[in-house]
Amino acid sequence: MNDLETVASLLAKAGRVTVLTGAGVSAESGIPTFRGLGGLWNGRDPMSLATPQAFAANPELVWEFYNWRRELVTQAEPNPGHRALAEFSRRLTSLTLVTQNVDRLHQRAGSRDVIELHGNLFEVRCTGCSRTFDRSGETLPPLPRCHDCGQLLRPGVVWFGESLPPAMWEAAETAVRRAPLLLVIGTSAVVYPAAGLVGTAQNGGGAVIEINLEPTPISATVDIALQGKAAEILPILADLL
Ligand code: NAD
Ligand code: ZN
Repeated sequence: MNDLETVASLLAKAGRVTVLTGAGVSAESGIPTFRGLGGLWNGRDPMSLATPQAFAANPELVWEFYNWRRELVTQAEPNPGHRALAEFSRRLTSLTLVTQNVDRLHQRAGSRDVIELHGNLFEVRCTGCSRTFDRSGETLPPLPRCHDCGQLLRPGVVWFGESLPPAMWEAAETAVRRAPLLLVIGTSAVVYPAAGLVGTAQNGGGAVIEINLEPTPISATVDIALQGKAAEILPILADLL
């Protein structure tokens, strides 16, 4: 058996599987990963823009970055990796998909009940009244304001340094604890707390399988690390299931 066949048979035998995805899953859709952007967006480090401090200091610049990302993602299409994961949930007994991505491509590929740990690019939240609004399908002005109270809106994503919505985090932890197998795909595994889900699985005796273009901090500790593109490996696995 080669590694792919071994992984497919472990997936099929596990019964319950939890999948954790990161920006690498959307790379083949033309959406750059933060750490793969060459480090820069318009000469700036995207990681320094995805923070509450950056928004407080320069909301126009942060909104420019997010409006660019909203546009990019709206034009993009789900890739064979996203579609294969939707196929996994039809072929496996039980699958919970937890994503750090904010692009909604898993849902557009047909995955249901996705746990969006970091929110998404299409919902916005008012910095005044805290209401959230779905503003997908429209181009937002450079500094969008709340229709109810007139205060500045912010992207409905979780920024570096912010805590995750407690209900999302609990749902993700529960899914990882309940499943004997965690499949980690296209994440640099350095952004906490999401990266901590790997430890949660291992502490509970669960197996962890990683798919990534390159070795990550968790590669040496996981049961099987497959190196390659998610959009190429996942369809092969889906066919083997
Ligand atoms: P990251 O940018 O830190 O890491 C991306 C990882 O994907 C790297 O380990 C890289 O080796 C791997 N990778 C790149 N191309 C790949 C491919 N074709 N197949 C498999 N793996 C590939 O991303 P992260 O770990 O998700 O964390 C960064 C944060 O940035 C997250 O909070 C996420 O919300 C956000 N983010 C989201 C998107 C998106 O929604 N598409 C894009 C960029 C960043
Ligand atoms: Zn408001």
